Order: sequence, then structure tokens, then C-alpha cells
Amino acid sequence: MRLEGKVALITGASRGQGAEEAKLFSKEGAAVIATDVLDEDGKKLEAEINRDGGNCLFIHLDVSDPQQWENVISETLKVHKRIDVLVNNAGIAVWGTNDDTTEEIWDNVMDINAKGVFLGTKYVLPEMKKHGSGSIINISSVSGLRGQAGIQPVYNASKGAVRLFTKSTAVQYGQYGIRANSIHPGAIDTQMIAHTHNDREDVFKDLVPLQRIAQPIEVAYGALYLASDESSYVTGSELVIDGGLTAK
Ligand code: NAP
Repeated sequence: MRLEGKVALITGASRGQGAEEAKLFSKEGAAVIATDVLDEDGKKLEAEINRDGGNCLFIHLDVSDPQQWENVISETLKVHKRIDVLVNNAGIAVWGTNDDTTEEIWDNVMDINAKGVFLGTKYVLPEMKKHGSGSIINISSVSGLRGQAGIQPVYNASKGAVRLFTKSTAVQYGQYGIRANSIHPGAIDTQMIAHTHNDREDVFKDLVPLQRIAQPIEVAYGALYLASDESSYVTGSELVIDGGLTAK
């Protein structure tokens, strides 16, 4: 039980990597607050985790909305009195080039991928400060480390923002025992990229030294390490989980 006694709040948890993290954290003893805009899937996840003996509460949250954040924090504190771990996982991707990026798309991607991380951090910090501890895990991407051909640059900009925002959080709040780290997944087999490659096997063989796409659980194990006290001296770091993609 690597997260025994901890309360973990996860955004974008109804499916994909967030759902895997909710299930894994729960198996490792955490009480999980799963949040997302997808209420039906979120409720199903809540039921599945609780049926399997875990402790999960689903709460609706659009990460770009400060009022909804206030509500989630207050509901969480009513039930659990503390928040030990925040996984800022919710995100959207937009495919194409900068020619395809309207101002509306720019604002929407930045609101969810970057402002959402800022808001989550802003609203949990006071609670973590009270307890003198906390772990904030921000899901960036390999897209936050380098440019790419097929994705709108606004996505890279948003994930790059997450990378440096994480480091500043680590620098400013280390004195309160609060850690902040970013995770940089490569190609992960979720709905987000399901439609991007017709013949994915071949594409990933060429691109990725490990020659395959990853399963969401492979990112969840990284998040588990950062959430647990095993990473007690790790802050401001970047955990790249990409099968070697960016090593090339
Ligand atoms: P996913 O299956 O699409 O899951 C993302 C979840 O976030 C979905 O349930 C999505 O709901 C939700 N979401 C979208 N906008 C939201 C908002 N405003 N507020 C709250 N929740 C919202 O994708 P995933 O692969 O698990 O992505 C998780 C994170 O990993 C994202 O930050 C993504 O950018 C990052 N990432 C993914 C990959 C990859 O290859 N899959 C690689 C690198 C990084 P909707 O379906 O309504 O959008």
C-alpha cells in the first residue's frame, strides 16, 4: 500500500490515463477524488473502484473554471479534510499546423491544458501548506519538450507552459514541503490519439526505440512513484515516459 492514508485528486479521470491513475492509486490505498467533464464515465469509474474495495468519489470538474475548482476543493475537504496529491491530468490535443489554429482554438487549448494546471495548483496549495506536505503531478507531454510536425503548435506551447510552471511551483513551495513534478508521456494508447494513425504498429516501430505505443498503466506507475513518499526528495523534475522517443 504505497499511498495508504493519502487523499488524491485527479483531473480528466473519467477515461484514459486519468482513469488508470485513479484505479492504481486506489489499489495502493489512496482515497481518490476523480474529476472530469464526462460525468457518465466518471460515475462508472467511481462505481468500479468502490465495488473493488476502493474509496472513490466522482465530482464534475471543468478544469478551466475557477468556480468549479472551488466547489471540488470544498466538497473534497468536507469528506476527507485534506488533499495530499493532485494530478493535473486533464488535457485536449488539436491536430494540424499553425495554419489551423484560430484564436478560439488557441484560447481553448491554453485554458484547459495550461490555465487548468495553474488553477488546480492555486486551489490545492493552501490546503497542502496547512499540512506542510503535498505532491503535485502535472501531466505535460513529449510535446512540452520539442516541436512536432503533426500537432498544432498551441498544444506544444501549452505543454511547455506546464513544464516550466511545474518547476516554478517546485522552487516557490519546496519550503512548505510541497513537491511538484511533470510527467512527459510519449504515445499512449488512449482516445486522444486513437484516430491519428491508421497503421499504428508500423508508425511506432519507426519512431519509438521500444517499437510500440504505451498503455496508460505505464504512465500511471510513474505517477504513483511521484505521488508516494518514495519520491520524497524529487521535485522540479521531469519524468519522461516515452519508450525512448525523445532520446533519439
Ligand atoms: P483522454 O483519454 O482524452 O483523457 C483526457 C480526459 O480529460 C478526457 O476524459 C477528457 O474529456 C478530459 N477533459 C478534457 N477537457 C477537460 C476539461 N476542460 N476539464 C476536465 N476534463 C477534461 O486522453 P489521455 O491520453 O488520457 O490524456 C491525459 C493527459 O495526457 C492529457 O493532459 C494529455 O495531453 C496528456 N498526454 C497524452 C498523450 C497520449 O498519447 N495519449 C501523450 C502525451 C501527453 P473529453 O473526452 O470530453 O475531452
